Amino acid sequence: DTAAQDGHEVYFYQNGEDEAHLERLEIIDELKQALQLDDGQLFMAYQPKLNINSGQVDKVEALIRWQRSNGDWVSPELFIDLAEQSGLIVELTQWVVRTVVAQVGVWLREGLTMKAAINVSAQDIADSAFLPHLEDMLATHGVPAKLITIELTERDMIENEERGIAALKALKALGVMISLDDYGVGQTSLGRLKMLPIDELKLDKVFILKLNESHQDQCIVQSTISLGHQLGFSVVSEGVENSESLTLLKQMRCDYAQGYHLSRPLPAKEFINWLGSYHEVV
Ligand code: C2E
Ligand code: MG
Ligand code: MG
Ligand code: MG
Repeated sequence: DTAAQDGHEVYFYQNGEDEAHLERLEIIDELKQALQLDDGQLFMAYQPKLNINSGQVDKVEALIRWQRSNGDWVSPELFIDLAEQSGLIVELTQWVVRTVVAQVGVWLREGLTMKAAINVSAQDIADSAFLPHLEDMLATHGVPAKLITIELTERDMIENEERGIAALKALKALGVMISLDDYGVGQTSLGRLKMLPIDELKLDKVFILKLNESHQDQCIVQSTISLGHQLGFSVVSEGVENSESLTLLKQMRCDYAQGYHLSRPLPAKEFINWLGSYHEVV
């Protein structure tokens, strides 16, 4: 009896595992199709980054969105992870780069100079086709490299460290900016931080979401902004959800603020509408 019960449990356990595995394969397969079709299932949302000194929005972060053909939304955390595990990330990032650079080019020709940040993975940086493809897109769409920022997390930055740093240096030489995303929750030692060829530190939102309420977060954020500036980096805070936190960040001399207090990430047209009615909040 006990053995049968065990067997029963094992059966269901394995069955559950298989189903999860199948579901993952199905999502990757659908994602591959969505990339090839490029029929609107995948699109970029743009979230304003406020230049705290000027009070103007001169930059956005491009964030991918996916609505499956059955109507379900899939979170980027989930499908980016699957894309990384399956290697599809390289193709996905090429789509993102093509889409965002084209959009920045369209805005330029409409008279709007808007910088844009693109999230990439370690595998993209290691891919020898990444830089030539980016260069090609910039030329095709008439976009100066300095309008584009590449965001990489600490984990992505330290994978294949030496080759990664060489690749980042080549990107910097092209003129794009490099940003260290989700800073403060990963493993970057201070010794390593000074070695990285970055232009921008992007504080993780865990330190910002309750900045107005937490003395500890205020200490961490203030000292990280000072450290970043001393090392020559621009400092961005993500997850700014209220005006008190924004005021504190201004007092702390943070350079850029991003978060729901300004706007959620929006499709290009809605972002332009939002920008048209934006009034300075700092
Ligand atoms: P991330 O690059 O750190 O992006 C910031 C995330 O915080 C975004 O989630 C954004 O919508 C969210 N966020 C912005 N403001 C606030 C706020 O005030 N409060 C809170 N609670 N959240 C805020 P999202 O769009 O779901 O993306 C999650 C992650 O997925 C991103 O984290 C990034 O790592 C990855 N990702 C998104 N788009 C892409 C992409 O095109 N390529 C790659 N490789 N990764 C992407
Ligand atoms: Mg990011
Ligand atoms: Mg981040
Ligand atoms: Mg993140």
